[in-house]
Amino acid sequence: MNTVASPAPLQTTTFLNWIGNKDMPAASGKTFDHISPIDGSVVARFADSGEEDARRAVELARKTFDSGVWSNAPARSRFEVLRRVARIIEDNKQELAERMVLESGKPVSTAMGEIMGAVKTFEYYAGATLDLEGSAISDRNPQAFGLILREPVGVAAFITPWNFPLLNPVCKIAPALAAGCVVVAKPSHLCSSPTVLLARYLAQAGVPDGVVSVITSQKDRGAVVGQYLSSSPLVDKVAFTGSTATGRAVMRAAATNNKKVALELGGKSANIVFEDADLDTAAATAIAAFCYNSGQQCSAGTRLLVQRSIYDDFMERVLAQAGKQIVGDPRDAATTMGPLVNREQYDRVRGHVNVGHDCGTLLTGGSRPDDSRLDDGLYLMPTIFGGVDNQSRLAQEEVFGPILAVIPFDDTDAAIRLANDSAYGLAGGVWTRNLDRAFKVIKGVRTGKMFVNGYNNVGIDDMPHGGYKDSGVGREFGREGLAEYQQVKTVQIKLA
Ligand code: NAD
Repeated sequence: MNTVASPAPLQTTTFLNWIGNKDMPAASGKTFDHISPIDGSVVARFADSGEEDARRAVELARKTFDSGVWSNAPARSRFEVLRRVARIIEDNKQELAERMVLESGKPVSTAMGEIMGAVKTFEYYAGATLDLEGSAISDRNPQAFGLILREPVGVAAFITPWNFPLLNPVCKIAPALAAGCVVVAKPSHLCSSPTVLLARYLAQAGVPDGVVSVITSQKDRGAVVGQYLSSSPLVDKVAFTGSTATGRAVMRAAATNNKKVALELGGKSANIVFEDADLDTAAATAIAAFCYNSGQQCSAGTRLLVQRSIYDDFMERVLAQAGKQIVGDPRDAATTMGPLVNREQYDRVRGHVNVGHDCGTLLTGGSRPDDSRLDDGLYLMPTIFGGVDNQSRLAQEEVFGPILAVIPFDDTDAAIRLANDSAYGLAGGVWTRNLDRAFKVIKGVRTGKMFVNGYNNVGIDDMPHGGYKDSGVGREFGREGLAEYQQVKTVQIKLA
């Protein structure tokens, strides 16, 4: 599990599109270079695809779905493929981790955790294929019999970001394949190789030609491909993970043929600490909640709501914990925070440090690590602003970097009000030993998931994930994630 990626740079590898179970160059013949956030070196090259490539993949996917080669295959054969791919991913975890670390800068321990998450997700949906069933209605009318069938949605297109470059495509592709869909995936230009490698592993596991295609592109052409996939009438469902603004563009484009849409978008989640909590555990977890993956996670607890009666005491503990983060080369097994993913993201997050000075008091961070070995990388220390007003920009805008806004509150009603005073509703945490208070907060906060006396890593797999409000539409993982790739057909049979 804690295998360390080689600190020696890998040779630049070229990845092409994956169409018809084989590598395929972009129609233009062009490629683009990927620059590592660790030291600015070129670590991969990808096909730079455009609309023509997306059309080719979508037309093949349509033909493949309509042929029934996958959707009508016995569920057990789909089970076998999904079970096999889980093993292949595990066997190739070193290759995957190395690519993820070099391309996205995430620490090797974080990459390994993500890979094992992908393995478990394929295992879960492999099992689900053996339990796909509808229902029957036999007692509402003696002269009629009803059936409720669950059928695959059809061709599903996926548009994913870079922050969890393996798990994001996996939590779409695994349930889609389990349900019998055919897929076209478009990863982010900032970490494309895990999706291409996954498609190769799926072919190795026995997925028939045309069932899984992957199209890569650099930033601007990526938006063109994303719009094509979202608007194509040959696509039945689009599942998108990314920013709220792009999610709106996907939804508008999907209106072309009223296709099914799932959007997993941004967040600004409140982590609420009451005076009766286990303060040491809450402080340590509050740091992990916003520093994990260098804060580049949609569920991050980036608003820390602290009861005023313990504010000073608790913040002392939080600052002590912040000092324990190890910001460094992500190839080093001890590193807990790697660099931000690219220059654009780094400059944006640094811009939020400037915004923070107008919204609260800088308590720690706000600068690069004091280590000349990291000079060529895009590193930022964990940054905490105290005494922040919840109405301020720092408390309202998603930063997607390691910046925490600390907001004091007086009582349970005030905490719930502050937590809900956000356009987003993705996650949230509550720390208390009082069960009544915990339930009041759980029921009062409008988010897709809540943690009690923990945050993010509580240890239950396959729970549905998704947001309220601007955080999105639909759910991924678990049964709800599977249902996203099924259509419901009812049948009414008249009896003689
Ligand atoms: P992004 O919206 O810039 O890009 C996401 C994907 O959309 C990329 O593949 C990109 O190429 C594509 N894209 C860009 N423009 C498009 C367009 N006009 N039409 C269709 N596709 C287009 O997001 P990002 O910077 O890659 O990721 C960060 C964002 O993702 C954050 O806001 C974060 O909160 C969100 N996110 C959400 C979840 C979740 O589950 N809710 C998970 C991870 C990340």
